[in-house]
This record gives sequence, C-alpha cells and structure tokens, in this order.
Amino acid sequence: MAKADLHIHTLASDGKCSPEEVVRLAAENNLSTIAITDHDTYKGYFKAREAGDEYGVRIIPGVEITTDYNDRECHILAYAFDIGHSGFKQKLAEQRLIRVERSKKMVKNLNKLGFDIDYDEVLGEAGAANISRVHIARLMLKKGYAGSIQEVFDRYLGNDKPGYFKSDYTSAEDVISLIHEAGGVAILAHPGLFYLWEDLRFFLNNGIDGIEYIHPTHNFDLQKKYKTWAENFKLLISGGSDFHGRQRDYYHFGNVTVDESYADAILAKAANYKQSEMKK
Ligand code: AMP
Ligand code: MN
Ligand code: MN
Ligand code: MN
Repeated sequence: MAKADLHIHTLASDGKCSPEEVVRLAAENNLSTIAITDHDTYKGYFKAREAGDEYGVRIIPGVEITTDYNDRECHILAYAFDIGHSGFKQKLAEQRLIRVERSKKMVKNLNKLGFDIDYDEVLGEAGAANISRVHIARLMLKKGYAGSIQEVFDRYLGNDKPGYFKSDYTSAEDVISLIHEAGGVAILAHPGLFYLWEDLRFFLNNGIDGIEYIHPTHNFDLQKKYKTWAENFKLLISGGSDFHGRQRDYYHFGNVTVDESYADAILAKAANYKQSEMKK
C-alpha cells in the first residue's frame, strides 16, 4: 500500500530542508504523496511540485495556519485549496506581518531578561523563511544562552513563558471558513498536544473537516481515540511526521505515515468545496 506524509516543514518556515530535498527524501522513503505544510505559507509548494514531477511524488497544496482558539495558538492544516485564491493569499500575508511583529516583541522581552540579541540577528537566522520562535531559539542557542532549542522553549519562549508574546491571530472558526472559501479542507493539527473532548466539539460545530490522528506525539491509544471520533462524525482523518529536518525527525519520516487513500479523500472533499464555491 502506498504511503503519504501530509505534515512536513521546509526552509519556508521553521524546517531545515529545502522543498526539493524533502521531495527527494520522500521518494527515497517510497512515499507516493506528500503535503508541505509550512507555518502560514505555501511558498515551498511550487518548487516541491517541480521536484515532485521529477521524482514521481504527488504534491498536495498544504499550509499549517496559526489561529486563535480560546486565547491560545491553535494550528489548523489546510489542504488542496485553490493556490490563487486572493482572500487566502491575503490572510497569509497578514500572518507573515503578525509573525514579524511578535518576533520583535519577543526579542524585546528577551532583552529585558538580560539577553543581548537583536531583531536583525534573528532575521539573519530566518533568511527568507516566515519568521518563528524557532529562529529566535536558534540564535539563543548560538549565543550560548541555552543548551538546546527545547530549553529555550521550556524557559523563555513557550506559551506563558516570560519571553513569549501572544499575538491576535484570526479565530479558528474564521480561518476554517476561509479555507472552505478557497476550496480547501481544514484539518485540526496534532490534537493530542492541546485538546480535550469539549474542544473537539467546538471544532466539529465550526466546520472542521477532519482531524490529524497520526502524529509523532500520538500514541496508539490516542490514534484510536481520534480515529473513532472521526468515524462517528464522518470526518476525514489525516496524518504525517511533522518533519522539520531535526535529527529525531529522520526516525519519523517514512514511518509516521498514512495510507495514500486518505489523501485521495481529502482531494475529493476539496473538489466538492470548489464546486459549491463556483455555484455561489
Ligand atoms: P511559532 O510558529 O513561532 O509559534 O513557533 C512554534 C514552533 O516551534 C512549532 O511549530 C515547533 O516547530 C517549534 N517548537 C519546538 N519546541 C516547542 C515547544 N516546546 N513549544 C512550542 N513550540 C515548539
Ligand atoms: Mn514548526
Ligand atoms: Mn503545529
Ligand atoms: Mn507542523
């Protein structure tokens, strides 16, 4: 059975590999289908498509959108949306600016904590990527202010830590609607990290199309729980390795996968949304 990985990051956000490298890796691992799901950007898609044609890997448009749910950052995966949709593009452009502003605020917070870093240095880490806490953390590591990226998050940049700054991201329900308008499918990312049953009910009532049941942080019990939940409500299921090119991610890549038929189901539902958008 052919395998798919529908959750992958590249240099366009906080990953370490280029889209081309990811596609080559996918081919080496016998993945038939992948989606690159960078944080708030699908910039990697075009290069990935070219490489996908070369290596015989199917590439599905994807993006992991940061949203606000109950005053928390909530990640929603969008798939198979219309790449040219202007409202969708516009939203991601806004998100990019939010990322810039919050990074500046977080640098200031870290300065107040006594760390000698400046925003331009963080930009140097990010390059052309959508800037993220990970780039700040890499700089902190380079400067010897922590022993690992994890330590930076645990002590300074994790949600509720003193260096963190919470931005006003668009609400999860509005982002779900926008994904549908763009002819795409909205999947709740790695629910095991954040959510309880009542939260899942909220997403169900607000148009979520499916849930990511396979993720490196989900044990077998969680996988079963989410799969059953999705079956009960006739939702899609999805999954992937959340590959960022970190050392540990290489153990997951090619192993934390879903059957490619799940990708087919996502595409079929997106085709329905596109049809109903055309009728409007
Ligand atoms: P951002 O997109 O700027 O909010 O940064 C969040 C990213 O940081 C996640 O997508 C992860 O890749 C990475 N990360 C690594 N460790 C942690 C952690 N302990 N808490 C939150 N994010 C983490
Ligand atoms: Mn990430
Ligand atoms: Mn995420
Ligand atoms: Mn991710």
